[in-house]
Amino acid sequence: MKYYTFGNNLPNGDRWSGVRFWLTTLLVFWTFSAIGLGWLVNSFFILIGLIALVPVIAFLGLQWWVKRSIVSAECPMCSSAFTASRSSQFQCPNCGEPLQEQNSKFVRLTSPGTIDIDVQIVD
Ligand SMILES: [Zn+2]
Repeated sequence: MKYYTFGNNLPNGDRWSGVRFWLTTLLVFWTFSAIGLGWLVNSFFILIGLIALVPVIAFLGLQWWVKRSIVSAECPMCSSAFTASRSSQFQCPNCGEPLQEQNSKFVRLTSPGTIDIDVQIVD
């Protein structure tokens, strides 16, 4: 009765395990389709496609978002180049000037008409 058993008892059993797996998979899919569950098979493939696509879309979206929300420019005061996020106020890492992003360039927070003066007391 040994010849009628399946599995590891057969000397060449491993050679056919891959074929048997695909045959079983095909049979399962065929059975699903035959009893009107083709949508289940389809949604299964769609799910696999989504799982494969989501990291790619997330990566591209993140790259797009970073490009859109980060701006690299030079400080108008000391001309040192650095990167900062848009729509927020920040300080120049070199000279500490309060800055703001405007048209992909850094501008000072103080109004353009303001003139910086050093007050010196003269005796
Ligand atoms: Zn600066």
